[in-house]
Amino acid sequence: MPHPCLTCGACCTQYRVAFHWMESDEVTEGGVPHQLTERLDAHRLCMRGTYSDPIRCVALDSEIGVYSRCTIHPNRPSVCREVDASWEYGKASSQCDRARIAHGMQPLTLADWRWRDEADNDDDHPDDNGNSPSSPPNTPVAA
Ligand code: SF4
Ligand code: SF4
Repeated sequence: MPHPCLTCGACCTQYRVAFHWMESDEVTEGGVPHQLTERLDAHRLCMRGTYSDPIRCVALDSEIGVYSRCTIHPNRPSVCREVDASWEYGKASSQCDRARIAHGMQPLTLADWRWRDEADNDDDHPDDNGNSPSSPPNTPVAA
């Protein structure tokens, strides 16, 4: 069974993805590609496409609920790394749940992670495979 984020992508269409300008690759090697960002305020950038409704991050390659990947996964903002999928690490995520519900999907449950037990996969971050959009957010959140 694939990681649930790989068939979702909902959270990359629900929240403003804001982060400190120092995360930009203009100032930090390996940072967020600056051409995909825009200025939010004096201290923050946000991902293009997430400043205002309708929100959809410019870096998202997805048909929500079918397939999804973050095209800048290794260089995604910190807020994206901080949003876990519900129950991936033993607790629910309101951001994940709300995003899925907004797209007519059920929130994840512990049952959605049993495939990991079967695979004896106890990695800390099984979604860090270069394909998951996960971790959008302390939020893709933000502001
Ligand atoms: S964190 Fe939740 S809402 Fe975001 S892609 Fe994964 S399953 Fe979907
Ligand atoms: S993980 Fe972050 S940068 Fe990547 S598509 Fe989602 S919101 Fe955009």
